Amino acid sequence: MAQPTGTLYIVATPIGNLDDISQRALQVLAKVDRIAAEDTRHSQRLLGHYGIRTPLGSLHEHNERQKVEGLLAELEQGLSIALISDAGTPLISDPGFPLVRAARERGIRVVPVPGCSAAICALSAAGLPTDRFVFEGFLPARGGQRENRLRELAGESRTLVFYESSHRILDSLASMAEVFGEARRAVVARELTKTYETIRDGTLAELLEWMRADAQQQKGEFVVLVEGAPARASDALDAATERVLATLLEELSVKQSATLAAKLTGVAKKRLYERALELQGK
Ligand code: SAM
Repeated sequence: MAQPTGTLYIVATPIGNLDDISQRALQVLAKVDRIAAEDTRHSQRLLGHYGIRTPLGSLHEHNERQKVEGLLAELEQGLSIALISDAGTPLISDPGFPLVRAARERGIRVVPVPGCSAAICALSAAGLPTDRFVFEGFLPARGGQRENRLRELAGESRTLVFYESSHRILDSLASMAEVFGEARRAVVARELTKTYETIRDGTLAELLEWMRADAQQQKGEFVVLVEGAPARASDALDAATERVLATLLEELSVKQSATLAAKLTGVAKKRLYERALELQGK
């Protein structure tokens, strides 16, 4: 008789405060046959804190493709495995997607054990609209690519959620002020659930000035939330048109971009010309 396959648990862990873990997560981590962790030494601290001695193996962005087959084979033999990342919910700007995709394709049961994610934690306390939001994760590291991505998002009316590290927080805020305009409202959520938790709101210009003036505020981990562009139902461009225009603007003048975008999308050239000027910050 075929052996029943095991279960792959996707377990959320704290983003700072070790108490932010569910009873169910602790039970699952204690009972599974093994835990696949992004950084075993990092996770050992959490597991040690709760007296959990389940064998640990690593699954990180550099070995993920090689490790997936082995983990699937173990699951098919009937072992149960929990996937955890360094912080928060696995797969949310963290490893795990190839494993979960492949497990589901092979009919292996995948069970989420929910908990923290920095994005949702930040949204819950930011005071920006949460009925519709867009999770953008990390922006590209290079300035030109970062600004192009932001230009594509400039007309987005939903709240925008970004992850950022201490290395690039100032550059990213500066790019946002440049592309979205200095007056756009935003929130910086820093070191959530940790000792130096700071949640600061203001315009992009105010936030940039505040952070430039205080090096302490540039340290740690960040979620940056930006209020969506004011919805102008009559003249807002749809996302595909925004993308076409932003892409053309990378290579062509405002006038050429508007002319070509009008031919490609059927939207009035005047409207596209005005939007192109906005995107160029003119
Ligand atoms: N899987 C995680 C989650 O569910 O939120 C995200 C992992 S991603 C590699 C790490 C990024 O998440 C950090 O650079 C930061 O942008 C954000 N982050 C994680 N913990 C945070 C915290 N305590 N405060 C603010 N941002 C945090």
